[in-house]
Amino acid sequence: MNSLVLKKGRDKSLRRRHPWLFSGAVEKAAGKPGDTVAVRDADGQVLAHAAYSPKSQIRARVWTFDAAEAVDADFFRGRLQKALALREALPAAKHTNALRLVHGESDGLPGLVVDRYADVLVAQFLAAGVERWRDTILDLLSEISGCEAIFERSDAEVRKLEGLEPRVGFARGNRNASRCPIVEYGLNFRVDVEQGQKTGFFLDQRENRQRVRALAAGREVLDGFSYTGGFSIAALAGGAKRVTAVESSAAALEVAKENLAANPLDASKVEFVQADVFAQLRTLRDQNAKFGLIVLDPPKFAPSAAQVKKAARAYKDINLWALKLLAPGGLLATFSCSGGVSPELFQSIVAGAALDAGADAKIIERFGAAADHPVALEFPEGDYLKGLLVLKAG
Ligand code: SAH
Repeated sequence: MNSLVLKKGRDKSLRRRHPWLFSGAVEKAAGKPGDTVAVRDADGQVLAHAAYSPKSQIRARVWTFDAAEAVDADFFRGRLQKALALREALPAAKHTNALRLVHGESDGLPGLVVDRYADVLVAQFLAAGVERWRDTILDLLSEISGCEAIFERSDAEVRKLEGLEPRVGFARGNRNASRCPIVEYGLNFRVDVEQGQKTGFFLDQRENRQRVRALAAGREVLDGFSYTGGFSIAALAGGAKRVTAVESSAAALEVAKENLAANPLDASKVEFVQADVFAQLRTLRDQNAKFGLIVLDPPKFAPSAAQVKKAARAYKDINLWALKLLAPGGLLATFSCSGGVSPELFQSIVAGAALDAGADAKIIERFGAAADHPVALEFPEGDYLKGLLVLKAG
């Protein structure tokens, strides 16, 4: 079997069971992309089996820390069964037919993301290792989940870092994939798995949408970066007085309107505005608009550590204007999905925004990703979504 030998003293993170091996820690390695390699310390002892990725700075991703375990179809069967069983046991599974079934490294399957939208699976193969085992994984997924249709959305940017070309389309089965109907806590949504963002829907925000629903009664709501209307429709279902949804993508707004129509709610209470949130917040301020609840769920402003400074300015800007637009007693549910922005940094950005807005504001709750997006304790990189519920006193 191919080997990957670590430099002397560079086995610490591996011994803490971190699944990534960076190029700087590697003394020598041989193999083709996706090959399983035995990872050895400088003394030759096997510490793990990993997927080799010669083109990536993450030179290998660990499949198993058990030197005696084989990486074969049975291995993948075991990992997938475990991942799916975990989701079946979740309380949310009783309230929705849309769940993340596999969350990469945190499910022991580095580079693999699988979301279930009713009877359609959407899979992303994001690293050389899972790319090599693609066929095995697809067969096992349809067997274990009972879903015949698997749509592949291997078009994320990170594939480039692995030297992999994008691939999009049905990998198994076939059907209309531009509007997969799902139910989330009694609300109907259509998911465009073909052309929607990521795999089509932001499942990580499920419980936070529920929280917003519970807080929305009687409030004027502003949903910034609304995508297909998740928070807006939840707020309306929760009894919001009015909802203004701001989103730049016309395609997302089209689905949002269909989603609204798919629920027995008073659609006349929702206004969809196709605009840039940064500009629209200022426009609303000029119009003297006031809101009782504002949601800010922007895209990843800092895809990597290099963009953190610029991202911090963007987060501060939107939070500042949102805090100005809040009426006294108003609530701001504000999120960041940038891995490079830590919860501490995010909190200090929002604190700076409150200071500059002249708002007396307090954190009354904290948000994270839903439980179908577990974070393995040895893999803190998996903990990307953070949010604060801020109450503006005056
Ligand atoms: N809250 C949504 C997910 C939001 S994803 C949900 O629960 O489903 C972020 C959204 O922000 C995307 O739809 C993207 O098109 C939109 N977006 C990105 N930049 C924007 C900008 N400057 N102004 C308005 N919308 C923007």
